[in-house]
Amino acid sequence: MIGKLLIANRGEIAVRVIRTARRMGLATVAVYSDADATALHVAMADEAVRIGPPAPADSYLDPEAILAAARLTGADAIHPGYGFLSENPDFVDSVARAGLIFVGPPADAIRAMGLKDRAKALMEEAGVPVVPGYHGADQDPGFLRRTAVEIGFPVLIKARAGGGGKGMRRVDSESGFDEALESAQAEARTAFGDSACLIEKYVATPRHIEVQVFADAHGNCVHLFERDCSLQRRHQKVIEEAPAPGMTPDMRAAMGAAAVRAAQAVGYVGAGTVEFIADASGGLDPDGFFFMEMNTRLQVEHPVTEAITGLDLVEWQLRVAAGHPLPLAQDDLAIAGHAVEARLYAEDPARDFLPATGRLAVLRFPPAGPSLRIDSGVREGDAITPHYDPMIAKVIAHGPDRATALARLARALGDTVIAGTTTNRAFLCRLLVDPEVAAGRVETGLIARHQDELATPPAPDAEAMALAALAVAVPPPAPGAGPFDALRDFRLHGAARHTVRFDDGAGAAQVVTVTTGAEGGRDVATPLGSVSFTRAARPAPGMLEVVSDGRRFGVAVATTGRTVHVQFGAAAFAFLLHDAVAAGQDVGGDRVTAPMTGTVRRVAAATGDRVARGQALLMLEAMKMEHMLVAPRDGIVAEVLVGAGDQVEEGALLLALEEEEEA
Ligand code: ADP
Repeated sequence: MIGKLLIANRGEIAVRVIRTARRMGLATVAVYSDADATALHVAMADEAVRIGPPAPADSYLDPEAILAAARLTGADAIHPGYGFLSENPDFVDSVARAGLIFVGPPADAIRAMGLKDRAKALMEEAGVPVVPGYHGADQDPGFLRRTAVEIGFPVLIKARAGGGGKGMRRVDSESGFDEALESAQAEARTAFGDSACLIEKYVATPRHIEVQVFADAHGNCVHLFERDCSLQRRHQKVIEEAPAPGMTPDMRAAMGAAAVRAAQAVGYVGAGTVEFIADASGGLDPDGFFFMEMNTRLQVEHPVTEAITGLDLVEWQLRVAAGHPLPLAQDDLAIAGHAVEARLYAEDPARDFLPATGRLAVLRFPPAGPSLRIDSGVREGDAITPHYDPMIAKVIAHGPDRATALARLARALGDTVIAGTTTNRAFLCRLLVDPEVAAGRVETGLIARHQDELATPPAPDAEAMALAALAVAVPPPAPGAGPFDALRDFRLHGAARHTVRFDDGAGAAQVVTVTTGAEGGRDVATPLGSVSFTRAARPAPGMLEVVSDGRRFGVAVATTGRTVHVQFGAAAFAFLLHDAVAAGQDVGGDRVTAPMTGTVRRVAAATGDRVARGQALLMLEAMKMEHMLVAPRDGIVAEVLVGAGDQVEEGALLLALEEEEEA
């Protein structure tokens, strides 16, 4: 029996686990780093224990700190969530040694599936189809290159310890092999402390289809059907759905049986996911799927399976961990309708999905209900920090069929209002109405192929710029003011003329004038055209309400630093307020600044060095990713202002070049 559950995680997954644990009558314990002292998961748990500073290695990844928290609170079980310690077999062993229940598989099952090469060998033995390739021990570059030639290009180099798409390189010809291998190995060594790689045939038009499995300690094992996670960017999932578009009963039966065999081959217990890659070039085919890896934990995308089965997978996890048999047998399980999940992130799709940080000045979701679920670990006012994954929420829509589920999800994302940080919300809205997505022709290369249309936000028009100017010019309501105070405010500022300057991106100002007329109307003249509003009011902080051409609509507005954010419907724009001093310094490209808050990992230039345009100067690590910063032009380094290990804020000056000599 479990009486008190400690959740060794943070964010939305900690919140989600706490919710089910409470419903089941369990007491809950949250753990938190200093960065999360006021986080939602901490507020929701019955008790909470500080486990260390923000860096994951010193808190959420520290087994001793987690076990000490369990001892302190008398918890008898630990749920690891996903990520962090969830797939660390040594942690599972220490949980057992401490006399506690680990809500997850046995350590040996995690070990068996932990390295991709060993897992593939095991699966071959168990009769599970694997991607053709080499997963042996010989790591000699010449040997691996010759093996790749034998397999036939294109091939995929994968770190055997890999995860999250790290240490993975597609190679199209023999000439590019050595360099790709070297960089994959280097990335794997940094990320996983293990540089060994395997070579796989690159599957053309690949679809990522995974099967949810569940096993108990009494020898029962079932599958809960498949999820399609083919909509990916840089090998990371963006949209997940269940069931998979175009799935046939034959193929589902074949994949389900293979997944159950995979789980049984390693003595699996609990929730797991067997990931397959399917060759979709000729449609789905029961002989055309291959094992990629098994994730020995709950997946981020488990809610779509919950939506189509009506089950609570965390409840199943807790029951299995307490020693109970699975609540249902395979024949009791059925699929109802279709579900789609979108991962809402603080990131910039137009800058290759660079993670973003910032305070969520506005965060409003449409109301959840039977067909809409929002899993989030943050609230309005919370910050997305560089310490952790920049996920804001998972939005999951369910419907009787795929088209309805997609439409509901698109609508929900359109109605979600976020300001204060850059997000992928508008990108997701565009992706969901992509004709190929709508037709179910998903494959892992789709987003990259459509990157330009999907990631490039529409250029701002006069209306967008006018609304941003109003966000600056119309005063927000005073604290404690009633709805009529805002109107009085307009008359107070009567006949006023307000000038707002936005940056044009090249250092010059775009001048917008806002003229206040009678009854709170505004005429806004922008370089893109003029727009008249018969009404413009700020009914609440973060909200602007306007009437233009008889159309009344709400706009979410927020200002963070020099950036003014406006969002209405699916459209979202950010305008930079013109700051003559800062803008002037950028002219000439003499400076290398931090694109985001993070840690300087490497400095590859010193004062006096002659550098060439595009040359790597600094490596910045932020949001678990490395960002190479390069020289903006040919020149001589005048000053390096940072060293390896320094924490830097977004926009900080890192390196300056000497001024250019007059030609
Ligand atoms: P990771 O553990 O780093 O996430 P995976 O092995 O799960 O790596 O693969 C991640 C993604 O890479 C898959 O979802 C798929 O899109 C792509 N991929 C993996 N193996 C292949 C392959 N052999 N051919 C084509 N694409 C692949």
